[in-house]
Amino acid sequence: MTRVVAVDGPAGSGKSSVCRGVAQRLGYRYLDTGAMYRAMTWAVLRAGIDPFDEPRVSAFASTPLIVSGTNPSSPQIEVDGTDVSEPIRTPEVTGAVSAVSAVPAVRDRLVALQRERARDAGLADEGIVVEGRDIGSVVLPSADLKVFLTADPAIRALRRAREESGGEAVAEASIAETGDALSKRDAFDSSRAASPMIRAADAVIVDTSEMSLEQVVDHVCGLIQG
Ligand code: C5P
Repeated sequence: MTRVVAVDGPAGSGKSSVCRGVAQRLGYRYLDTGAMYRAMTWAVLRAGIDPFDEPRVSAFASTPLIVSGTNPSSPQIEVDGTDVSEPIRTPEVTGAVSAVSAVPAVRDRLVALQRERARDAGLADEGIVVEGRDIGSVVLPSADLKVFLTADPAIRALRRAREESGGEAVAEASIAETGDALSKRDAFDSSRAASPMIRAADAVIVDTSEMSLEQVVDHVCGLIQG
């Protein structure tokens, strides 16, 4: 039976909405590993550390206590007892997260926590959907199912710009700006030395460009249920 599902893919591919939808439908747990890198970044900034100062970020990596919830209906994340689910989505954190997540000490610490969460689900005999950039390749290479979500870059930019505007109409210029920021983040995430974003050889590729959220959730549930 498929109990551990690894979902990777670039920003704006629809990972979070799809993974939450799949986990809710099947009664699985859900782990957003991007939120963990964002939480670490939030803690780095709060400590007054320059996120691009690798030695200082590295020395700090073991300091914050990061606790991730796994309920797909209300994913929550805490740093040292503070709920940071909202502040980890600010442009300041988004602009610094790729640099912080390229630091090997940060990855070692968070990958260990991610494996622990997957192990907990297994011990409780529950399924889990884990989303990120390196889940199928590094974190959980023996996952029962690996999915790599992609979408046309212009569509990813449009989706993300709409999300950021809270559903309001978005101007062409702001879609172009969002697209530019996404492609810079993807290029950085794919080219870093420490476990870059990579598609595992045995991952099923799902191109969501022409699909609605509901269609992608149906498709991934179909893959899980065989
Ligand atoms: O998924 P999200 O856009 O919230 O991820 C934020 C950032 O966290 C990514 O751009 C990437 O730098 C980092 N990340 C990572 N490995 C993961 C998940 C996210 O390096 N497994």
